[in-house]
Parts: sequence; C-alpha cells; structure tokens
Amino acid sequence: MQGQLYIDGQFAKGGAAPFAVYNPYNLSQIGTQQAAAEDDVKRAINVAEQAFKALKTTTAFARADALETLYQAMIQAESILAETMTIEQGKPLKEAIGEVRYAASYVKWYAQEAGRVQGDILASNHPKSRLHVYREPVGPVALITPWNFPLAMFVRKLAPAFAAGCSVIVKPASQTPFSAVKFFELINQIPLLKASCQLLSGDAKVIGELLIDDMRIRKLSFTGSSAVGVKLAAKSAATLKRVSLELGGHAPLIVFADANLDKAVKGTIISKFRNCGQACIASNRIYVHHKIKADFVAKLKAAVAAIKAGNGLDNVDIGPIIDEAAYGKLALQVDDALAKGASLLAGGQGYRTLSGSGGYIYPATVLDDVDENMQVATEETFGPILPLLTFNDDDEVIKRANATPYGLAAYAYTENLSRATYAIENLEYGMVGINTGVLGTAQAPFGGVKMSGYGREGGKYGIDEYLQIKYANIGI
Ligand code: ADP
Repeated sequence: MQGQLYIDGQFAKGGAAPFAVYNPYNLSQIGTQQAAAEDDVKRAINVAEQAFKALKTTTAFARADALETLYQAMIQAESILAETMTIEQGKPLKEAIGEVRYAASYVKWYAQEAGRVQGDILASNHPKSRLHVYREPVGPVALITPWNFPLAMFVRKLAPAFAAGCSVIVKPASQTPFSAVKFFELINQIPLLKASCQLLSGDAKVIGELLIDDMRIRKLSFTGSSAVGVKLAAKSAATLKRVSLELGGHAPLIVFADANLDKAVKGTIISKFRNCGQACIASNRIYVHHKIKADFVAKLKAAVAAIKAGNGLDNVDIGPIIDEAAYGKLALQVDDALAKGASLLAGGQGYRTLSGSGGYIYPATVLDDVDENMQVATEETFGPILPLLTFNDDDEVIKRANATPYGLAAYAYTENLSRATYAIENLEYGMVGINTGVLGTAQAPFGGVKMSGYGREGGKYGIDEYLQIKYANIGI
C-alpha cells in the first residue's frame, strides 16, 4: 500500500521522505507512507483555520448527517478497514472487526449528540439586560494517537470534535498510518467532512511541535505514553491550548473472596489478553484473595492454555508484539520477576516468527508469587504477561491497588454489593469495572486521573472537551 497525507480535501504527497510500514507478524514491508514536511503542516493549519470558519456556517444537523453517512460507510468498509489494521498492527482479525465497530459506534453516538449541544439563559438582575450562555466549538484541533488501536483512538476524538463544529488534524502513529489512510478514503466521499478533516503523518516531533506551537490550533487531544503526554502538555502551556490526555495505566484487578470465579477468570482473560495486552486499560496486577487463590489459579491455567498466539490473519487469540523494544521489555520484566522470587505458571518464552524476517510472538504468560518489588507490578507491561499477587483483607488490597502513579482503569470481582461499592468509592481510578473486564463504550466517559491524564472521551462528556463557554450580557 502507498499511503498519502490528506490536506485541503485531497490526498497529497508530503515534502519529507516517505517511510516504510511493516507487518509486525513477520516484519515484511507492507508499503510506504508519505511524510509531512514543515510546509505541509503549515498548509494544513491554514486550511484548518479556514475550515473552522466555514464550519461555523453549518448547523449541528448538517454535521450530524455527515457523521451518520460516515458511520454507514465505516460499516460497509468494515472488512477492508479491519484487514488493513491487522496487517499493520498485528491484532487478530476478529478484534480488528470489533475495533472498527467500536470506532463506528462513536461516530453514530456523536451524530446524535451534535444536536444536543445547548446553552443557557440566566435570570437577570436588571430588567433591561439579558444573560445568555453559549457553548461554542473551541476551534481547530490537533489529535495525536498511538499504534495499539490504530482506528478507534483517533475516531473517538474526531467524531465529537467535528460534531461540536471543530476542524480537525489527525496525526496517527508511524507504525500504523494505513488504517487512518483507509478511513480518510471514506472521509473523501463526504463533502462536509472532507473539507474539515486532515491527515498528517511523519516525524512526530516536527509535526507535533508545529501543531502545538501554533496559536490557531486551540486544542490538543493526545493518547499515548505518560512521558510524551507530560511533555506535550508543558509545550501546550505556551499557547494556553486546551489539552486532553489519555495516557498510560497500571490497572489492578481484584478478585475478592466472595467472587464468582468463572466470571473473574473470564474478565481477567479479556482485560489482560485483548490486543495481546497492548492496551492502557489492560489489567496489570491481578490481586487474588488467599482463600480462593488455588481454585482461581486452576481455572485460570485452563483458560490460558487455550490461548493461541500467531498471525492475526489466522484464527488466533493474540497476535505479535508491535516491535523489538516492546518485546525486549517483556523479557526483562519476566527475568526480573523470576530473579526476585516469582514462579512461572505458563508461557514465559517469546520467539521470532519463521516467515519473512521474523516478528515477535510472546505467548500468554502467567507469573505467580509476584510482589510490588518487581518491575512487572509497577511498570506498564504492554504485553501478555499476567502477574498474580495475593492479599488477605479488603483495606490492604485497595491500598496496594492505589499505590501507583497511574489512575486509568481498575477492576474488581465480588458478589457483595457493599464490597463492590467500597471498591468503586475507594479505587483512585477514572474507570472501575465490577464483575466485568470490559469498559469502553460510546456513551460512557473514558479517561483517567493522576498520571493517566485528564479529559474524557465518550458520551455527553466527550463533546464538552471540544466546546468552550461564551457569556453575553445583552442590554436592551
Ligand atoms: P507509544 O508508546 O504508544 O508509542 P507515544 O507516546 O510514544 O506512545 O506515542 C503516541 C503518539 O505520540 C504517536 O502518534 C507518536 O508518534 C506521537 N509522539 C511521540 N513523541 C512525540 C513528540 N515528542 N511530539 C509529538 N508527538 C509525539
């Protein structure tokens, strides 16, 4: 595939050298992607400024219609979008299809939400004045997103931004630009979206800096690592841009003594191994009450034994690790845990695939006897390693669960309503799953606290990120 940029309503070549894109399963080159030079970024910003002005003359209902058309187009193009994603990112095709539908569900939601943006009329303290509150789009926005969910991460931002009336510039990750290019082939068919949305790929630092330093871009929404998020937030301060950050996580999953163990195992498997563990809401520390530990582990081992790793285009449950650095980190975390007293219950040895030049596969791995002195219990893993920790009482486990700079997602399994409520109220996380390993859905607020960032995506909350308040005192 030869991927292009999308600027000013058309696909375009970039002024910088194109870069190669690889299939992480076998490291074969699947194509090249055009890269933006400084001039391309500046042109896109000029266009975004004009597009924002033009959007001001549109109604919310016209934008809703465009989003509804986009939703239909995404569902029609589900297979090609999903295959493209699997080839460049590695995830199993069934998960890629799930991601296309998930992304499309945000487009549908914001098609409906566009018409619900409302202002207020306030009581006046003077008979001859009227106090009006407007909610207006913030302006042109920049969206920077990672490789683990190549489509959903930016669509979850683009849909509410456009619904609110903002023009949009998307910068996807360099490992996975083609899902975005395929998506822009759909945008290219829909006049209002075509005029308002642009795609830039290439050197993240160059593009990121130009977008962030420009006063005309009024909002940055970033999903990625906490380290980069902190830098971008600091840079955004110079132009006082609005910023939303969806950053790293280190999710605890607590299995209380009264948990339904079948549900707990199912949720553990989904939350840990979806996307091969390469998700910011992946469970990272599985705390199991000592009384039910043996039963839980027996069931867990049986479920893990059934997980097949391999090429995402085959019928597998987990695909490859995105690159060598990520793969190397897994080996380091396992070695560190084993050296400090953990025991290996499953997996533990990654390998290179045989076809092409050989990507990296890491099998579903379970470590027992893990404690908080081990890297796996404190650093983001981003891979299929499941660390088991044991606890004795509720207060202790909540305290241990909170002992991390991150605060994105947490999970707990219990059949007791009081205990569930206690967990929800005391876990310092933006999202809590009770008896479920799944959190993301279009109508709910996705996002974190502490070093996991701020801002929310989804539902009525997600569109607020792209709106600002104007107050008018009208003398009559
Ligand atoms: P990950 O670990 O998921 O790759 P990163 O935070 O490194 O997370 O990257 C997330 C997104 O941020 C990607 O699109 C990447 O290209 C972009 N990015 C990385 N570094 C910078 C930077 N200094 N400025 C702007 N964007 C960046």
